[in-house]
Amino acid sequence: MKQSPGPSQGDMPLDEFQAAMDRIVDWICRYRRNIDQRPVLPDVPPGAVRGALPKEAPLQGETMERIWQDFEQLIVPAITHWNHPRFFAYFSITGSLAGAMAELASAVLNVNAMLWKTSPAATELEEVTLGWLRRLLNLPEEFFGIIYDTASISTLHALAAARAAHPELAIREKGMAGRPELPRLRIYTSDQAHSSVEKAAITLGFGLEGVRKIATDSSYRMKPDALARAIAEDRRHGWLPLAVVATVGTTSTTSVDPVPAIAEICRRENLWLHVDAAYGGMAAMLPEKRQVLAGCHQADSLVVNPHKWLFVPIDLSAFYTRRPELLRRAFSLVPVYLQTPEHQQVHNLMDYGIQLGRRFRALKLWFVMRYFGRQGLENRIRHAIELAGRLAKWIDHHPEFERMAPVPFSTVCFRARPPGMHPSEALNRVNRTLLDRLNQTRKVFLSGTELNGQFCLRAAIGNILTTQTHVEELWEHLQATYREVRP
Ligand code: PLP
Repeated sequence: MKQSPGPSQGDMPLDEFQAAMDRIVDWICRYRRNIDQRPVLPDVPPGAVRGALPKEAPLQGETMERIWQDFEQLIVPAITHWNHPRFFAYFSITGSLAGAMAELASAVLNVNAMLWKTSPAATELEEVTLGWLRRLLNLPEEFFGIIYDTASISTLHALAAARAAHPELAIREKGMAGRPELPRLRIYTSDQAHSSVEKAAITLGFGLEGVRKIATDSSYRMKPDALARAIAEDRRHGWLPLAVVATVGTTSTTSVDPVPAIAEICRRENLWLHVDAAYGGMAAMLPEKRQVLAGCHQADSLVVNPHKWLFVPIDLSAFYTRRPELLRRAFSLVPVYLQTPEHQQVHNLMDYGIQLGRRFRALKLWFVMRYFGRQGLENRIRHAIELAGRLAKWIDHHPEFERMAPVPFSTVCFRARPPGMHPSEALNRVNRTLLDRLNQTRKVFLSGTELNGQFCLRAAIGNILTTQTHVEELWEHLQATYREVRP
């Protein structure tokens, strides 16, 4: 790389860029080739990165050589490697190389996809790729799709649209504060739903009391009869029930709510049905898993996250709704400076959400779907499910481990159960220690959750590089660590 600082005007000269990219591509290939030789987790105390960097931005430009050196020496050692094949925490995800290449191309183009006019290809590729994904998942043709950054934001938009379905409340015009005539609004979701539902309720002014958590059965699925009772009770007490958020693939156990029964209640009660299929929805691509989205054709909206289980680099969330006019009612505002002559023939995607500026995210979805193809995507998703099935079997056959929930996808919830130790604080303590010690090895990374007051570990399989060997390594580390912490 070039040794002298950058020019005082204009961008980096192209010959310098080309040389720098050669080195960066070389680094990427080395990183990816040997990634499983690295620890998954960094070994740095809080504040280490901040402390190693200057307090002020440099006065004069620095060479790419020095910047990249610091990237390798200061930043990479403090990275948690989400692309590591032994990353089993949260939901294990993948930024595939095809997706990474699209990210670079998108940055070079630096497109803002707010209006069709501001880049016709960005808007139309978003329509095309979301149409492809919709068909892969067997969702109804009439579903309109739009890309947001995350499932949290998708769910926020769903609930804003649900509220806009009640124009008689005039919330868009008058807001919600200081209006005693306004009924209190309620949304319903299971006690296993992701916290993004409550965050959306806080943001939209429903408040946490505006979210009613519905009990789940022994497999952590929402109980439709409890939902129906809660709605009836709320109506008697003057609440206005607005929406239900069902989950396909809950965060803790990946349970699947009974969407057909919930959809029937929503239809009867005239409530918006939003399905959070952020993680689990992608499995519907497989013929043998198609039923996980059963009933979702009746939903008003649905979110799936290609950045969770479709090998697309974070972030990209695909949101579908059969009622896009309500998104427009909730969000569209077109000042003169954003008017364009073709607005009646095209979708100006800024009209369907909070943001004006929008990244060209569809490009990475397109690259990934084309590079792997439908079969390639299916094979990879199926492989993760098979690996999780094997891990679940090993756990089931071990006398001192127990599985804590069914495994409908590729995430296994389990805990250690030393002989004679009964469900209690002691058992929770052993499992918390087991998780901490396991992660301290830095060879694997798992996360934990609590089910009915019982702490358990979660192993999520989903990275594209994870093989049976990596899962065997997890199982070995787990047993070895357990032997150390076992009372
Ligand atoms: N919904 C479910 C079921 C999730 O598990 C998660 C995150 O793991 C989310 C929503 C939030 O996803 P995001 O990070 O895209 O907002």
